[in-house]
Amino acid sequence: MGLLNLGTPLTWDETSKYADHVRGHGITQFLHIWDEAKDRDGDELLWGDELEYMVIAFDDETKNAKLSLRQAEILASLNKSIVDLKADIPDSMTIPTFHPEYARYMLESIPGSPYTGSIQDLLSVASNMHYRRLFVKRHLNPNEVPVTVTSFPRLGVPGTFTEPHFSPDSAKSSHSLFLPEETISQHARYLRKASKLTVNLPLFIDERTPRPFLDPTIPPRRPVHPEDADAMNGAALIDHIYMDALCFGAGCCCLQLTFQSCNIEEARRMYDALVPMGPIMLALTAASPIWRGYLSDVDCRWSVLSSCYDDRTAEERGREPLKENKYVIPKSRFDSVDLYISTDWNNKPAYNDIDVPYNQEIYTRLVNHGIDELLSKHMAHIFIRDPLVVFSETVDGDDETSNDHFENLQSTSWQTVRFKPPPPRSPMGWRVEFRSMEVQLTDFENAAFVVFVVLLSRAVLAFSLNFYIPISKVDENMSRAQKRNAVRQGKFFFRKNVLPPGYMLPTTTPSSSGSSSPRGWQDGIPLKETKLRNGFPRVPPPPMLVDIPVEDEYEEMSMEEIFSGKVGVQSTCTVSRTSQLSQGAIFPGLLGLVEAYLDTLDINSSERLQISKYIDLVRRRANGSLLTTASWMREFVRSHPSYKFDSTVSQEINYDLMVAIDEIERGVLRVPELLPQDYARSRVNGLHESKYEP
Ligand code: ADP
Ligand code: MG
Ligand code: MG
Ligand code: MG
Ligand code: MG
Ligand code: MG
Repeated sequence: MGLLNLGTPLTWDETSKYADHVRGHGITQFLHIWDEAKDRDGDELLWGDELEYMVIAFDDETKNAKLSLRQAEILASLNKSIVDLKADIPDSMTIPTFHPEYARYMLESIPGSPYTGSIQDLLSVASNMHYRRLFVKRHLNPNEVPVTVTSFPRLGVPGTFTEPHFSPDSAKSSHSLFLPEETISQHARYLRKASKLTVNLPLFIDERTPRPFLDPTIPPRRPVHPEDADAMNGAALIDHIYMDALCFGAGCCCLQLTFQSCNIEEARRMYDALVPMGPIMLALTAASPIWRGYLSDVDCRWSVLSSCYDDRTAEERGREPLKENKYVIPKSRFDSVDLYISTDWNNKPAYNDIDVPYNQEIYTRLVNHGIDELLSKHMAHIFIRDPLVVFSETVDGDDETSNDHFENLQSTSWQTVRFKPPPPRSPMGWRVEFRSMEVQLTDFENAAFVVFVVLLSRAVLAFSLNFYIPISKVDENMSRAQKRNAVRQGKFFFRKNVLPPGYMLPTTTPSSSGSSSPRGWQDGIPLKETKLRNGFPRVPPPPMLVDIPVEDEYEEMSMEEIFSGKVGVQSTCTVSRTSQLSQGAIFPGLLGLVEAYLDTLDINSSERLQISKYIDLVRRRANGSLLTTASWMREFVRSHPSYKFDSTVSQEINYDLMVAIDEIERGVLRVPELLPQDYARSRVNGLHESKYEP
């Protein structure tokens, strides 16, 4: 989450006085990191996921599923037992780590130690996640359950949606009409606020939704805060779901992944390759169709978070001339990536086609230090923002050993992909974090998406894949990704030819012994690798590069085409040696790329079978033969006997939905429209259940 639990926060006035101090020292800290780590090489693949949960408290008598606000007690209890366990269990590497999150009903878990490139680690993701969930369960009350739901359907409705109940009149930091102060973690502090926050999410208009719809649950005349009248005075839009506090966004759960690269260049290539994947995976993992008790016309959390973290002033938004502020800033702090950063020959300047304001002074400092223009611009862009909060304990640190000021800005720039430099004097290397995915209801699904992204990231390196499309098209994909039913109905810009000019994917040919083995693909890639890894040789630029216009490099594809491939209309003139790749060549789809990569691995048929279950889930979500989580939730509501087709998700429907979600996760309720027929949690291999059964 960034900025949780770091000490004693200064007031906003004090914080803003320190803005230049933090930026200046932040860059000094980054320069120390740069000097120390720029030539670091050979770091192995280490990687890990982050899973966020909401704790639900069921009240079976009133049929209410509420958010349990016991984060502090639960974490204290978890951490105590972790200390005890570490004393007992020699292999304490497997004991997970739990973090607080912004909302007091949330928890985050990460694996006890990062996964390595071993196939065993890859195949242990589901059981690792499962173990973490069981671990949480052990520390809950009997009526509480951790659910991996992206947005809580009835956050901020009138009546009782938390356990215990609090009045929203207590919302001293947000002045929300709907959310009490007590939904926010004691650890969370974000101060910079231009005005009271306003989010309007399009409402899903159903058969009997009253029109025009102005939310009847907005209190018309609350007398607590001066802004209380704003909602009815135009802040709440017709036919929209109105929300007015950071917690509506920051209180959402997600699924993230971090990879370590062998060196900074590889990390920059990985970052760039994952940027176009941000919206694609957001659409595929869509899981948040219900907000503040209403069905919405979007399926994803992203735009809500983006609005919630949008603390730009009127000047920064370009609505007023710049006086107090220095920059017009096109996007929120929480948004899609603005700039590709690789220095690879593939990264044409034309791909960076949107306005990226940056701090000129910082840019010059970085360039004068010997850092290339792209990375300098990336950092100087992050550093146009003000720190959100400064902690008194960390104002004056040692810039050689601390990264507090650097991280202050770095970790409050929430983009779809994050480029993570190593901390100072750390064994950790350059890392890239993939941040767009929504969390799924079961660990099987979460593991499937994680495994898919990890394998795709390895295919990117092994085959020197090129996913570049202009950043403006990635942004357009971001907005398409969030629309209702985007997977089945949407089209997305995607690159037509992802292989390096002149290369084809390795093909599998039966050998004399009857087993399949891939033919050699390019010099330096040993086939039959025994693990996932970093450090693949980079394909050099072709001798004669005939530039084709950037607009001809991509086209609109359906999700099914992006994943399962299509007969491509490949550009025939990229390079003289591409004759073999000309007309009728096939875009193998992301899954084709992953399968080709799997063919290079030395894995046995049972391992391949296990991986194929994950891949199949991704394939079936992409081709629409299984519903996305969002579509399934929407259909659950619309087929509920008490639903009135008026867009409203009642307490009873929410209760039944949460019960169903818990039962699905436990393998009790079968939902063949969402999960493969043979899904049952007991199938997850290698469970630690016997040892740590709650
Ligand atoms: P943040 O919230 O800043 O993204 P977290 O600590 O919550 O960071 O999660 C970091 C993730 O990175 C975890 O999944 C962890 O297992 C993983 N990880 C830890 N060390 C490494 C490393 N050296 N390389 C790659 N991933 C790592
Ligand atoms: Mg988190
Ligand atoms: Mg985080
Ligand atoms: Mg963190
Ligand atoms: Mg985290
Ligand atoms: Mg993270």
